This record gives sequence, C-alpha cells and structure tokens, in this order.
Amino acid sequence: MKLSIAKWQNNHKAPAVLMIDDLNDIYLELYRDSFKNDWGYLCNNEGSAYNFLQKELLNKFPKIKITFFTPYAKHNVINPNGAKFKRYGVGEREEFSNFLQYLQNLGHEIAHHGSNHGKYRDINNPSTQNGNFIHEWELFDSVDEGVEVTLKGVELFKNIGINVSGGKFCGYKSRENSLEIIDKCNFLYWCANSGVNEIKRFGKNRVIKFPTTFAGNSFVRLSYKTGNFKKDFIKLFTRFLQPIYNKKEYKKLNSLYENGNILAIQEHISPSTSSGLVQSANIISDIKSLNKIFKFLETKDIWYATCHEISSYIELKDNTLLEFNNNELILTLNSNSKAESGTISLVLEKNLKLKDSSGKIIAAIKKDKNYIINLPIKIGKNNFEVVK
Ligand SMILES: [Zn+2]
Repeated sequence: MKLSIAKWQNNHKAPAVLMIDDLNDIYLELYRDSFKNDWGYLCNNEGSAYNFLQKELLNKFPKIKITFFTPYAKHNVINPNGAKFKRYGVGEREEFSNFLQYLQNLGHEIAHHGSNHGKYRDINNPSTQNGNFIHEWELFDSVDEGVEVTLKGVELFKNIGINVSGGKFCGYKSRENSLEIIDKCNFLYWCANSGVNEIKRFGKNRVIKFPTTFAGNSFVRLSYKTGNFKKDFIKLFTRFLQPIYNKKEYKKLNSLYENGNILAIQEHISPSTSSGLVQSANIISDIKSLNKIFKFLETKDIWYATCHEISSYIELKDNTLLEFNNNELILTLNSNSKAESGTISLVLEKNLKLKDSSGKIIAAIKKDKNYIINLPIKIGKNNFEVVK
C-alpha cells in the first residue's frame, strides 16, 4: 500500500495565517474613534483595535489564526515630536501582559519583532519616508550585539508567560550580519523578506525562512485614503480600477492555494502614525479587503494555523523518516529536530488501523479520495503496529 507524509497537517491543501505587525502597548491621540488610535494599549476592551477586529472579522471567520509581531521595548517609530501618545514596553503594564497571554490562550501567537524597531535619523522630522527611519536590524554593528538585544526579548516574553519561537525583521530590513544574528538565536522560523513563495532555510541551525505571500490591503489598495493629499487626489481616479485589479488579486490568491503555498497575509495593527499619514496595510483601513480574502478561503480546504504551527509541522516533516511493511510502521524523528514532538499526518490510499506502543488504537479518516491518519510522534523511533 502506498503511503506518504502529508505536505500539511490533515492533508489540507494550503495553510493560512494572518500576520499582524506592531501590536504594542501604545495609544496615539489622532482620530475620534479610539480603535483607530490603538496599537494594543486598550487590550481587548470595548473600543480597542482588537475588539474591532473581533467584531468585523474574527466573529465571521472564527477559524482565523493570527501571529502578532510585537516589539518588546518602547516602539521608536512613534515620534515624540509628532503626536500626543501613551507608550510602554512589554512587561511594564500588567494589563498588557495579560492581554498577550489572552491572545496566546486563544491559539494566536506572539512573535519577535525586535526591541524598539529602530531609530530616526532626524527626530525633528516626523516622516519615516526617504530613509529617515532606520530599522532595528540595520543598526547592529556586531553579531554579538544583535544576539544580545534579540535574546533579551525572548527572555522578557518568557518572564510574562509568552513563548516566542520566531519573528520578523522590522520593516523587512536587514544587513549582511542579520541572518547570522537570527541563526545564533536559534529561532524555529524567521520572516526575512516579503513576497517570497518558497520555503527555504538558512544558517547552521537551519532556521526556516518564513514567506510573506499576500498583502492584506490587496482588495482596497487603489481606493483607501493615505493622508497624503497628492496620493489621495490620484486615488479619486484609480479607485475605479479597483474591480479590475481585484480580478488579478483573486487569481494570485487562488494560484497560491492551488500550489499548496502558505497564504501568509500581511497587515499592521493600526492606521495611526506620528507623521499623520495612514500606515500602509492596516486592519482598520483594510477590513473590507480582509473580509474578501477570508470569504474566498472559506470554501477552500485551508489549514488555519499560526506561523509557529506551520513551521513546527515543516520541521517535523523534514526530520521524520518513514518505514513501512505490512505489519509495522516506524516513524523516526531526528534528534536535531527543533520540534521535539507533534502530530504528523500520513496520506494513505486505503483504510488502516494502527496500534501505538501504549496499545492505543488510531484509525484513519476518509478525506476525498484518500485516507488520513494523524500520529503523535516524539524524538527517536515511534513504532506502530498494523491492526489486522
Ligand atoms: Zn514593524
């Protein structure tokens, strides 16, 4: 009988994750609606950004899993010369720490996104454009310095009960030593570039390079307001092209799905910036676009999972050796695997029942033309006896 390890858990056709950058303990006083000002400070209270997301998206599509990328120190992209604000680092306010734990307990993920995100070249100029803001990993002159600052964050999160296993370069910006820093920190995965479909690995520790494949604002890009007078004037005309543009975007989404690629949907938490411009790709301005994306995915065979869950499955799959004869199935998980245990899915052409070493019977489930069997494994040899 033919059997093989499934590409994705439960042999789903493709995984999907909503990636939201810059969840932080910040509140910027800019708009009349509090949820537009909130970067996380209001936690899950009424009027918060998360509450908006819940009402406008998560309640309609409850399977969605989110990875929130959270800088652990005071976020420097808030320019004190540009706006009135409240700003705290992770661990400073218990309510925010509890909020992060709450998100983790819901099955979402908190991931690394640097300490303070970087710094302004000219603090008196509130613009982040034209290189006035230098992102965090562009600033580390030595690998040791980068490793120290990065690992400090992992430790800080651990102290408030948050497990961080991966992260993302701030602004997707890096320099020649950046990947080495991430490798030395021994992360499971890292988002290094935007717009890459295939999954690669880097460094001695074989860190998974996690792709970013779809912009959350794809279906509103030509119509939403930026706060820039010139750009918004042009958009008065380009917004009529949005429906034509949408056709292309649906095609792209569908081809990612059909190829079994990761649907990694990129967003930011808040539209508010200290420069007064609207943050490009944010859950508030893009809510219609996000609804279109998840409405489209609703009819498909999607594995909703966080970046951590997707990466753990890749790690498990890449490190497992499968041996099968008519009486026994052996799955050997290499001791180098960063995922020390997990559930691996096998695709079978016929029905099968297995007995694990503790005597527990595990049955296959029919899915489309095949059968799927989910087997819990850990480092070393995992033996399963075929039940005749
Ligand atoms: Zn960021």
